[in-house]
Amino acid sequence: MARKKQFAIIGLGRFGGSVCKELNQMGHEVLAIDLDEKKVAEFAEFSTSALQLDSTNELALKSSGITNFENVIVAIGEDIQTSILMTLVLKDLDIPRVYVKAQNRYHQKVLMKIGVEQIIQPEVEMGKKIAESLGSQKTIDSIELSADYSISELLATAKVNRRSLNELKIRPKYGVSVIAIKRGEDLNIAPMPDDTLQAGDILTVLGLKKNIRHFDQAGL
Ligand code: ATP
Repeated sequence: MARKKQFAIIGLGRFGGSVCKELNQMGHEVLAIDLDEKKVAEFAEFSTSALQLDSTNELALKSSGITNFENVIVAIGEDIQTSILMTLVLKDLDIPRVYVKAQNRYHQKVLMKIGVEQIIQPEVEMGKKIAESLGSQKTIDSIELSADYSISELLATAKVNRRSLNELKIRPKYGVSVIAIKRGEDLNIAPMPDDTLQAGDILTVLGLKKNIRHFDQAGL
């Protein structure tokens, strides 16, 4: 696993709850906080520790040890006022990274004004991902590295015709680098120019998003 990180999650609704389970599963340290006792009991087994408290109570929040956490995720959506207040308190406590789930555009605007860099809009982001995968012929998965670059997994079609990376001129023609080739259970993590491709191979490619899109549309 990558370096173990520490996360505190405030609000264990659908979004906060699934972030909590996922981070815990990845082996990170997770402090789960909710106002609702039932939620706290439910998440005890999916976190390092689960606490019942009203996070707008600054004293209670401080005594939870939250100031020792590098990353805090505010996953209270519906009650926008509480979310904003929470965020201000966390910023005052000098938490290095505060991630906030925004409920709508107004909420997002306020968060930007108070200097939150990591604003999460799950529905918007999920919508984009789903549209991308529906619009794509072969993209299996994608990781966004920055606004311009990503790493994507693409399925090779019969068009590759057992030709080598060199023959297919993938890098010069499309400007993307093939960084891994998966064939069944075999994973080639250092593909050489002479390595050939077959239909059904899963290619991991790195490059500008627009180049990856062109490469994808070329339908190799
Ligand atoms: P989702 O769509 O992810 O379910 P939501 O936007 O509906 O989220 P809410 O239901 O508003 O989110 O809140 C998520 C959780 O946050 C709830 O479990 C709620 O108990 C908790 N919560 C709300 N206010 C506070 C608070 N002041 N302190 C701690 N937890 C809180």
